[in-house]
Amino acid sequence: MIRGLVQGVGFRPFICRMASKHGLFGEVDNRNDGVSVIVQGDMNTIELFGNDILQNAPPASKIKSIKISPRQINGYSTFKITESKTIDNQITEISPDIAVCNDCLEDLENDPERIDYPFVNCTNCGPRFSIIEGLPYDRPKTTMKNFIMCDNCTSEYNNILDRRFHAQPIACNSCGPFYQYKDPLKRLSDIRLILQEVSMQISSGKTVAIKSLGGYHLMCDALNNNAVSKLRHKKLRDSKPFAVMFRDLSSARNYCYIDETEEKEMKSWRRPILILKEKEILSASVSNGLNTIGAMLPYMPFHYMLFKFLKTPAVVLTSGNISSDPIIIDDQTAENQLISIVDSFLSYNRQISNRTDDSVVRIIDRKISLIRRSRGFVPRPVDLKVNVEGILAFGAEQKNSFCIGKGNQAVMSQYIGDLKNLPTYDFFNETIDRFSNIFRFRPEFLSCDLHPQYLSTHSAELFENEFNVPLIRIQHHHAHIASCMAENRLDEEVIGIALDGTGLGSDENIWGGEFMIADLKGFRRFTHFDYVPMPGGEKAVDEPWRMAYSYIFKYFGENFDYKSVPLFNSIDNQELSIIKEMIVKKINSPMTSGAGRLFDAVSALLGLCPVATFESEAPMRLESAIDDLTDDFYPFQVNQTIIFRDTMKAILADLTGQKISLISTKFHNTVAQVILEISMQIRKDTSLDKVILSGGVFQNKYLLEKSLYLLNRNKFKVFTNHLVPANDGGISLGQLVIASKIRK
Ligand code: ZN
Ligand code: FE
Repeated sequence: MIRGLVQGVGFRPFICRMASKHGLFGEVDNRNDGVSVIVQGDMNTIELFGNDILQNAPPASKIKSIKISPRQINGYSTFKITESKTIDNQITEISPDIAVCNDCLEDLENDPERIDYPFVNCTNCGPRFSIIEGLPYDRPKTTMKNFIMCDNCTSEYNNILDRRFHAQPIACNSCGPFYQYKDPLKRLSDIRLILQEVSMQISSGKTVAIKSLGGYHLMCDALNNNAVSKLRHKKLRDSKPFAVMFRDLSSARNYCYIDETEEKEMKSWRRPILILKEKEILSASVSNGLNTIGAMLPYMPFHYMLFKFLKTPAVVLTSGNISSDPIIIDDQTAENQLISIVDSFLSYNRQISNRTDDSVVRIIDRKISLIRRSRGFVPRPVDLKVNVEGILAFGAEQKNSFCIGKGNQAVMSQYIGDLKNLPTYDFFNETIDRFSNIFRFRPEFLSCDLHPQYLSTHSAELFENEFNVPLIRIQHHHAHIASCMAENRLDEEVIGIALDGTGLGSDENIWGGEFMIADLKGFRRFTHFDYVPMPGGEKAVDEPWRMAYSYIFKYFGENFDYKSVPLFNSIDNQELSIIKEMIVKKINSPMTSGAGRLFDAVSALLGLCPVATFESEAPMRLESAIDDLTDDFYPFQVNQTIIFRDTMKAILADLTGQKISLISTKFHNTVAQVILEISMQIRKDTSLDKVILSGGVFQNKYLLEKSLYLLNRNKFKVFTNHLVPANDGGISLGQLVIASKIRK
């Protein structure tokens, strides 16, 4: 019996090949708990066979254990794959998409049927989730169904010894999908001509819309600042950093610092975008003043082929969409919507079934921290300690993902996006339908956020009526903490710390700097960041200077000399007095304890980001400003709440004369110190010593590493998110497990 991640990753064909190599007969079968292999032969050969399996396992698999138990069998005269018997077996068989493997890259040059064939794949690599329409995972249930296998592919598909044995997307030059290039003057379908043309376009500063694995990308030369800023201007008008694909690891090293863990993840079959520290600027418009680069390596055969023609070592590869719409997957929409942004289109004649964005990860404390969970990760389930069968959790509103429960597994959707955007909300509802179909799921119990205005809540209410099943509403930060407990398989009382931007609290205020004593069933709020007004509500999120004003006004009142602070000096008097009015008269100024708003305020005070052009820009710029190595922190007070009066006073004092980088470092240290001190207080009161850190603020590498350092040094056991994002993208997992406890 072989346990681990061994299903849907070409494992059974691999076992067949290994058995044949050792001359063993028997059978292989998928079970609920792993892959069962029966072989007949002498113990020596079987042990060698076992070793071979361990050493050569397919890249996307992960063997946890191989257990050999001898028994009396005979009568096998072949080695065969037994068809999976139960539906449940097949559920976990959907693999995420896998980057092209080295054998296939060699086939691009050597396999006569696949010379320069850009859709080459095998059981170890290629599209999976993105092409699946239903289960069981067989070619007719994928978007490969329209391509009839040629004789050569058929014989490889049926040959146990072949690397393409039962590779569902198998294809070659004579039977598979192909690329088509289009610009206002010409159309091309010869792959070499296409590669020449696209590389010429990129080198001459043009932008090409390229259909990738999970959706369209926009591509231009990352070293050509004109091209990049033109694309930025046309696409978005904001300054959110663009992701970059590098030719190879050594080119990436010229522009980014890459440590061992980062290298390993970057080269992994998932090929996510890694947030790396910048060494050298690519071109000013790529990262727009942030000291990080979102870097990835080629993952489709086409990417590798293109870099052979391209002179540049790096291309911008950003999602093909308009503002916050979902990434485009079909050709017609691409042509309609991207026509004014790009100079040409590169498509191919296979449909994308499941839209998947590039996943984004950051290595924090030598471990993976997910920022966006999609290609390469979805739909791999999260194993839980609790039974979640039949539960549908709708997630939050921004960075939405939802989650369905199958037995003890949580299947989380890919990154959906911000539901306030209508096409994204459609994508959300479509994907729930699709997951219900693919995973044969029927909701019996629903859970959603406490916020009545979230569109995910709205959708949950529609389901409640349609299916006539119970719906429970879960406090946002409790869900953050539970998401982290769930993936770490904790089911007990813990110290739960959730720091994020916004989430509705049980007292109707906007929470986000929360220290809780929590378990999977419920929570008690131990303390929280001081409440401050958000003048203008959502507007205060877009304009961090308002939060700076709000904090200063709360702590120092109207007699404070606002014009002595450069930030306020740059804002006109009338605007300042309007904000003051709003705060004093409590007009559209909800109270918030959101940690994100505190970071916003400090970032604005330091002049780093008075007005944000994309989400979390102010905290990102604040983190980016860190470069001094100091352990100093600012004073703060803890009464009923955590009061930052002294912190603000000290920051204002440092503003006259100290370096921004020093102030930023000291501020981050202050927040880490707050985390430590409150944890110690809770431990003293309750003797709990397990600390959960979750919420979007913990995507801040410096803050999380500092907090981990302080907590570990003080003998706390600390848990963080690794399988799902700490941000709102992970909320649905928390909602799912809380629902399972409440349902009982
Ligand atoms: Zn391959
Ligand atoms: Fe949140």
